[in-house]
Amino acid sequence: MSSTSTSTSTGSLARSRPIADRHLFGPGPCNPYPEATVALAEPLLGHLDPDFLEVMDEACDLLRLMWGTANPRTLPISGTGSAGMETAFVNTVAPGDVVVVAVNGLFGERMCDVAARHGAQVVRVDHEWGQPVDVERVVAAHPSPKIIAAVHAETSTGARSDIAALGAAKGDSLLLVDAVTSIGGIELRADDWGIDIGYAGTQKCLGVAPGLAPFTINDRAWERRVERPTSWYLDLGLLGGYVGEAEGSGQRTYHHTAPTAMVASLHAGLRRIEAEGLEQVWERHAEAGRLLQTGIEEMGLELFAAEGFRLPELTSVKVPEGVDSAAVRGYLLDRHNLEIGAGVGQYAASVWRIGLMGHNARPDRVALILAALKDALAHA
Ligand SMILES: *Cc1c(COP(=O)(O)O)cnc(C)c1O
Repeated sequence: MSSTSTSTSTGSLARSRPIADRHLFGPGPCNPYPEATVALAEPLLGHLDPDFLEVMDEACDLLRLMWGTANPRTLPISGTGSAGMETAFVNTVAPGDVVVVAVNGLFGERMCDVAARHGAQVVRVDHEWGQPVDVERVVAAHPSPKIIAAVHAETSTGARSDIAALGAAKGDSLLLVDAVTSIGGIELRADDWGIDIGYAGTQKCLGVAPGLAPFTINDRAWERRVERPTSWYLDLGLLGGYVGEAEGSGQRTYHHTAPTAMVASLHAGLRRIEAEGLEQVWERHAEAGRLLQTGIEEMGLELFAAEGFRLPELTSVKVPEGVDSAAVRGYLLDRHNLEIGAGVGQYAASVWRIGLMGHNARPDRVALILAALKDALAHA
């Protein structure tokens, strides 16, 4: 292609612009841990290469640490967090099964949609957005659901729910939990809390690019799974021949080509978290969130999520009266190279969402955000 070409192909666009190095302080993706980025540039391995299988096995071990589980069936699903959600429901819901879903934000809503598409009889328990899940109301919604589903960290509102309490109250039901924004950021103990099925994502507090969905399922849920799910790609029975059950057995069978570069990157990010210490990483998120939320209130702004249930990794802020929410976000991006998120649904224009996830959960990032936001509001 000549240098004077006016082609708008991405190649030509990429060459005509400098690489933007954004501060990713929205609801995900965040700026990855440097180790995770470096791993993406390493020479590629095949998905059945013994060296790669070692990386995969180690990544699964590290995921067990992140989940707080001993489940052998713990693996990264190929796809983003939503693929994890789909995997959870398609493998456990048969037509007519009752699924109680706690809805306190967008991702609870999405669970209802996904469960219904797989034939579930969905019983939804609605909450005001910004509030945590009300465990008593959720368990009272139906006498014997097959599954009770809830979101641990509602990224759409910034509220944290008490999954341990839900696990203690679940009775004979299976507890299915969305841990996309909690894993690697706040305390998560799948086995102690009674989580039977869990899915997560890589681009939030694990500090890796989007593309994989860390997944775990225990024996109790495995015994009650759907034997022949309507999805072939996300069939855990077939995937088990490649990871999990096949681990160390030398009996790997090809199912689909694992995204080896992404798994290597996840592995590197998880190693970084392990080296720092998982509990120290939770504490780092807690500290960064406290600093940001205190700073926001000192600026005279109001927080959206209910006090006492605020996530450190996702701070939701009420847009002040008379301020154009989108204009402020545009200014932050243009002038400060800094991305924050809009609100969701009816709160699209009235709430901002600021993420401090993974590598970004640091005091110097907080200072940057507060200074940029002050500047943006002075210009609004
Ligand atoms: C981001 C997110 C998802 C969806 O994950 P994708 O990676 O966007 O597919 C699901 N649940 C929660 C709580 C999330 O924050």
